[in-house]
Amino acid sequence: MEYRAWFRCISDECGKTYELDEVIYRCEACGNLLEVTHDIDALRQISPIHWARIFVERYKSGDWPYGSSVWGKKEWVLPKIDNDNIVSMYEGSTNLFWTERFGRVIGLKDLWVKQCGNSHTGSFKDLGMTVLVSQVKHMISRGAPIKAVACASTGDTSAALAAYAATAGIPAIVFLPRNRVSLAQLIQPVSNGAHVLALDTDFDGCMALVKQLTEDNTIYLANSMNSLRIEGQKTIAIEMVQQFDWEVPDTIIIPGGNLGNVSALGKGFDLMYDLGVITRRPRIIVAQAAKANPLYQAYKSGWESFEPVQAGKTLASAIQIGNPVSLKKAVRTLKNFNGIVEQATEDELANAAALADRCGMFNCPHTGVALAVLLKLKESGTIHSNERVIVISTAHGLKFAEFKVGYHEGKLDGVESRYSNPPIELPPEIDKIRDAIDERTQNQE
Ligand SMILES: *Cc1c(COP(=O)(O)O)cnc(C)c1O
Ligand SMILES: [Zn+2]
Repeated sequence: MEYRAWFRCISDECGKTYELDEVIYRCEACGNLLEVTHDIDALRQISPIHWARIFVERYKSGDWPYGSSVWGKKEWVLPKIDNDNIVSMYEGSTNLFWTERFGRVIGLKDLWVKQCGNSHTGSFKDLGMTVLVSQVKHMISRGAPIKAVACASTGDTSAALAAYAATAGIPAIVFLPRNRVSLAQLIQPVSNGAHVLALDTDFDGCMALVKQLTEDNTIYLANSMNSLRIEGQKTIAIEMVQQFDWEVPDTIIIPGGNLGNVSALGKGFDLMYDLGVITRRPRIIVAQAAKANPLYQAYKSGWESFEPVQAGKTLASAIQIGNPVSLKKAVRTLKNFNGIVEQATEDELANAAALADRCGMFNCPHTGVALAVLLKLKESGTIHSNERVIVISTAHGLKFAEFKVGYHEGKLDGVESRYSNPPIELPPEIDKIRDAIDERTQNQE
């Protein structure tokens, strides 16, 4: 069976199509974003049960490249690419963790966290970047005049792009907002040999500049307006359902900035639905930082209007975005998935992350936004105690050590650290140590 995929304009009135080998990010006819579309009839030749069996067989196997949870679903992602051109570091297969104790603390029996940060560069961005960089390598192998790949980033996209480009031997250029990414995020592309440009502007400013740079088609744009990334990121939906033995959860909470990832999540569920692998859709909730909440405001207006905002400084720096590029895709997803948008303040996100850390997690601030939204919606009764809920954890907490340190030192702006636990500094004397331990034990009683 031959499987095929192509770019298609997301506007149904337009629907213009393009080859995946074209260097194109928006529709030439109407300017809308594109999405990768698959030959559904060809995919339907295999039964849902058989697809499920194929994915399970390949899952975490040593069979290159199918052991990667993205490439294990190759026919649903980029069917035509030669395996020789695939640039993979064994993406996906991340833990879907039953947060039993935290769930008990907040009154939820069936609460799970999808640990997307347990990956090569420490965020879910690897899922999409393996697809994009593989397609670039494929195009170069066919003689396309691509000299470099480039992106604007709030830190994680550039880390992923730099790592995959370095693995493939393709030059990478990354635009970062100066002093607005974490130390770990800054040093990742530096270490991987990318051309790192730290600019005195915010993400939206970097994005505008990288768009200008990539008007020259020899520099390939790697931001999520490039829908190849969405194809890789959508596998998270398939993977989670697979991890639940093909059962669909009730509710998924996902932090949103540029809104590519929520679109990807919806796209994965839609494809499973269209192919009969699942028979219902989950509810999807987008969590935004109150300081950068354009989607929340549009939701509150009943989707009547959308206004870009000037994103304020937020601890959730990877979602500090005022003009999300995938807005239309995200709104479509939320309408199809009974969607909700909720926001979290700096105080709420930091304390939610810390409370969950107390129960054994180690959350990045963006996951903190999702957890804070979970707490709010549980409180308001929007989420019920017996629902199966998955929180998408988008990055590893270790990438955000400054956030953790600041929290436990009580030094974060606008945050009252309710669960701070700073180290006790003592001379190396056993009596003083015993006293300190006794004091803490008493305080906990
Ligand atoms: C990129 C990113 C997000 C936001 O994803 P979008 O697709 O931009 O909505 C959230 N959390 C982390 C850690 C990220 O790196
Ligand atoms: Zn169009």
